[in-house]
Amino acid sequence: MRATWSGWGDPPPFPEQLPSLVPGLSGRETPAVSLDDVELPESRLPDALRKIARTDREERVLHAAGKSYPDLIRLRSGDASGAPDGVIYPKSHDAVLRVLEVCAAEGVAVVPFGGGTSVVGGVEPLRGSFDSVVALDLARIDHLTTDRTSLLGTFGAGLRGPRAETRLNGRGLTLGHFPQSFEFATIGGYAATRSAGQASTGYGRFDKLVLGLRCATPAGDIVVKPFPGTAAGPSLRELLVGSEGTLGVITEATLQLRPLPGMRRYEGWSFASFDEGVEAFRQLAETHSAPDVARLSDEQETRLAMALSSSGSLTDKLGKGYLKARGHAGGCIVIAGYEGEPDDVTMRARAGGRVLRRGGGLFLGRRPGESWLRSRYHGPYLRDALLGRGVMVETLETSTTWTRLRELHTAVAEALGGAMAARGTPAVVGCHVSHVYPAGASLYFTWMGEREQGAELEQWRAAKTAAMDAIVSNAGTITHHHAVGRDHTPWMTAEVGEVGVEALRAVKERLDPAGIMNPGKLLP
Ligand SMILES: Cc1cc2nc3c(=O)[nH]c(=O)nc-3n(C[C@H](O)[C@H](O)[C@H](O)COP(=O)(O)OP(=O)(O)OC[C@H]3O[C@@H](n4cnc5c(N)ncnc54)[C@H](O)[C@@H]3O)c2cc1C
Repeated sequence: MRATWSGWGDPPPFPEQLPSLVPGLSGRETPAVSLDDVELPESRLPDALRKIARTDREERVLHAAGKSYPDLIRLRSGDASGAPDGVIYPKSHDAVLRVLEVCAAEGVAVVPFGGGTSVVGGVEPLRGSFDSVVALDLARIDHLTTDRTSLLGTFGAGLRGPRAETRLNGRGLTLGHFPQSFEFATIGGYAATRSAGQASTGYGRFDKLVLGLRCATPAGDIVVKPFPGTAAGPSLRELLVGSEGTLGVITEATLQLRPLPGMRRYEGWSFASFDEGVEAFRQLAETHSAPDVARLSDEQETRLAMALSSSGSLTDKLGKGYLKARGHAGGCIVIAGYEGEPDDVTMRARAGGRVLRRGGGLFLGRRPGESWLRSRYHGPYLRDALLGRGVMVETLETSTTWTRLRELHTAVAEALGGAMAARGTPAVVGCHVSHVYPAGASLYFTWMGEREQGAELEQWRAAKTAAMDAIVSNAGTITHHHAVGRDHTPWMTAEVGEVGVEALRAVKERLDPAGIMNPGKLLP
């Protein structure tokens, strides 16, 4: 299964209460054009590749963009002018090496393509200095072997989340990696972007799960052996993880697994304010009692989520009344999820609960947690419904230390709100903390406003630029888990410094001397 070319999948009905929550929203119809009406340029592949590439309309459009707001706006309006000239599905590591050899000889750019769920322009088929570009879709490289004794799994890069989990679960194992894009994203994509899943506070970010890698580069193979620990110089694993297809194609990854949890306990909590919640989360980190899933929504996100999920039922009204009576009206919701063996889960939930209660948290029972767990992959479908009704909806993410977290939160929310208001399209800006570390946490922003018909990309750029500038000047990373792609390259020098960029460029020049690998991404 893959996402649709114009979005994610079957959208739910448009939430009719939304226009009353987002200022100025008209909710007018803005459907996508039909696939037949999407404008495609002629394919310009050299003969050597034409024999092995698919060049039909559907394949080229499906590989023409990722899933960011600007990607979808362009495609839905019928613009696939940058579509790849062809799509190649190699079956093995050696087949990937052969394709790279031909592309380097013929001067064809190569975009490694996993699930195509990048939200930072990572799979945009830019040609760089070349006339043509191919998308290299890894879907056919999908093997899996496990070593139960060492809790390791060796995965083909094209394996998608659900298939990988089903196969692991059948062996009593799990990877524990559940990003919101889980349904379509791949193992290779996770590794290439340093992905973080919803349970990464407990299971660890994807970059921490990778022990070994096999990577096909235009200069030849690199194999990183899956040692549990090594002191053999700077880590090649760290260089390849997060390389976003600019150095080579990750064809296989050896990953740390966990036994399938015997119990899952998900709870809801409420805090009177975001500040209180942040401090309680800091305490969770400091006392090593953070749950595996730790999410704290700010006031705005909580208000929006509650309004969208409200059924107006008696239970809803009683719940709101209870929060009001306890001084938590307009407060912030927390989801705390614990996974593992039953005794361990009970003990950890008790320890975590003590910290949350001490910090001012109000226990809301398991229903909110279980409801979140059931609906955790629904967001992207709702986004499709919003895109079809004139709504600009976009997200971005960052992280910083506990010391700077609150000022970063305020600065980015104000930057996004200010940039949207300045264009006459005031927005609702919500945020949540979703990954907790000893030194700090992530912040994930969502903003929604009326779409500026015909000037969507300028509107998006104004908001994105304001937010990124605020991030950089308030000690945030330019990306916590979405990666750099095309969209964050202007801020990469601010992130790693000029010499840092030069060092990365030197590595690229050695591994990819012709510069065919994913031009225009990662490096400014
Ligand atoms: C609705 C939605 C929700 C999301 N939620 C999350 C989330 O919770 N957490 C998170 O981390 N991210 C999230 N993302 C972002 C995205 O899903 C991740 O970046 C994911 O890791 C990308 O995987 P993919 O297989 O789709 O890679 P793609 O989008 O296909 O590729 C991403 C980048 O990696 C490169 N690449 C892909 N495969 C390989 C390979 N085998 N070798 C070398 N380079 C490769 C591509 O060239 C590109 O630069 C979300 C995206 C969407 C649309």
